[in-house]
Amino acid sequence: MEKLKKLSIIGFGLIGSSIFHAARRAHLTDNFSVYDPSEDVRIWAHAHGFTSIIADDLSSCVEGADLVILCTPVGAYKGIAQAIAPHLAPGAILSDVGSVKGAVIRDVGPFVPTGVHFIPAHPIAGTEFSGPNAGISHLFDGRWAILTPVPGTDDAAVEKLKSFWQGLGSQVDVMDASHHDLVLAITSHLPHLIAYNIVGTARDMEQVTQGEVIKYSASGFRDFTRIAASDPTMWRDVFLNNRDAVLEVLGRFNEDLSQLQRAVRNGDGQTLFDLFTRTRAIRRAIVDIGQDTSDANFGRNKS
Ligand code: NAP
Repeated sequence: MEKLKKLSIIGFGLIGSSIFHAARRAHLTDNFSVYDPSEDVRIWAHAHGFTSIIADDLSSCVEGADLVILCTPVGAYKGIAQAIAPHLAPGAILSDVGSVKGAVIRDVGPFVPTGVHFIPAHPIAGTEFSGPNAGISHLFDGRWAILTPVPGTDDAAVEKLKSFWQGLGSQVDVMDASHHDLVLAITSHLPHLIAYNIVGTARDMEQVTQGEVIKYSASGFRDFTRIAASDPTMWRDVFLNNRDAVLEVLGRFNEDLSQLQRAVRNGDGQTLFDLFTRTRAIRRAIVDIGQDTSDANFGRNKS
């Protein structure tokens, strides 16, 4: 892709700093500007040699940028959109990385000035870590980035944003925001809710001491604790902003769980075996398309 004149990144956490590293690796621009209000982030950036890219305020961060990407928790988007709107350059693309899309269009859309192309996006990539220290240049390699432009969005701007994400290493899909929110509710949001719940339940169980929960965590519980260590602010905002889709898939989940509960109670081994066989095939399919390793235990060499 043609180099960007200026890339503006608002929020220099895991995703924002990974975009910076990946864009620098691919030489997508020579001019970065990053804004983050966190004193800790600013101290970190200065200590790690990034002083020249840190902007003092939102307006100077976005001024003259041809691509502006919101990389904060989605609950902060509305205030940021309001603050940056008067400073966005005509023809600029305003995008984001938020894990929900309908609410982002609702919160940001009304502030987007005429002549600015607003194209929401979501990289399906991440870790349980937060902050600029967690950023890595290869985070998006081989992962999907989903763009959810509203009807009528300029095709050339969508193509430009697609090329940008491809430059970061991603594969790109385009879909409707409400479809995105439903798909992600089942593939990402519900699994996080279940993980937060099971880890919370284990912690609260009186018969199991916290020491045992930690000591014997090599079984399935450990994998839930990784997900349940994810950033509380980010995930609070996801559930506040994708309520309808999460409640819909949670309803389905509860019905299916009741069926499993009945099978366990009734000693219905066939039902259990049939389900576990079907779910095993899903795991194989994920490995087959290269979205995870085929190594035992996710490639960890110790259990
Ligand atoms: P993160 O590591 O916590 O970084 C977010 C950064 O934004 C923090 O430095 C935070 O500062 C800053 N921030 C908060 N409010 C701000 C504001 N009003 N203006 C400017 N900066 C502000 O979070 P993340 O994991 O990168 O997530 C960022 C976004 O990416 C979220 O919308 C999330 O839904 C999306 N996302 C995350 C993942 C994932 O796996 N983590 C994957 C895909 C998409 P403070 O620390 O001071 O609050």
